[in-house]
Amino acid sequence: MEITLEDTVIEAKGHAWNEGEITVEATCATPGEMTYTCTTCEDTLVVETELDPENHEDLAYMEWQDPACEEDGHTDYMYCAACGRYFTEDGEEIDAADTVLAATGHKWDEGKPTDDGGIVYTCTVCEQTKTETDESGTGVLDAPTGSLLLLRVAVA
Ligand SMILES: [Zn+2]
Ligand SMILES: [Zn+2]
Ligand SMILES: [Zn+2]
Repeated sequence: MEITLEDTVIEAKGHAWNEGEITVEATCATPGEMTYTCTTCEDTLVVETELDPENHEDLAYMEWQDPACEEDGHTDYMYCAACGRYFTEDGEEIDAADTVLAATGHKWDEGKPTDDGGIVYTCTVCEQTKTETDESGTGVLDAPTGSLLLLRVAVA
C-alpha cells in the first residue's frame, strides 16, 4: 500500500508534566517555586508561585513597653520586617497605630516655693522638674536670678 510522507511522521506528544511539587516555599515577601517533571523524559519545568501572605519571613515578637512621660510606648505585638505588617499574637493583622501607647505627660506634684519666688514642680513619675514664676510675687524673680548668674560666673 502506498503511503504519503505525512503518514510517516509521528507527532511529538509534548511533555507529560506530573502534578508538580513545591521546591521553594513562598513567603510573604518572596515568591516560591513549583517544579513539574515530565513523566516521559524527566525534563523539568520550574514555575514561580504567588506570595504566601501568611508565611512570614521575618516575624518578631515585640515586648510590651509602657509609655514614659515624653516617649510613646507600645503594646506587645508581632511585626514582620519582610512585609512590614503588624499582627496580634493570634496572627490577626492590626494597624501600626493600634500598637502605640501615647506618652502620658508629666504628672507634676503640687509644687514647692523656691528662694527666688518661683515654684518648682517635680514630676512624680520621672522626677524631672520645672520652675514657674509665682504669680503673686511679681518682679521678685529678676534680682535673685541675676545674683545666681553672677555666682556661677564667680565660681567658674
Ligand atoms: Zn517530556
Ligand atoms: Zn511578613
Ligand atoms: Zn515625668
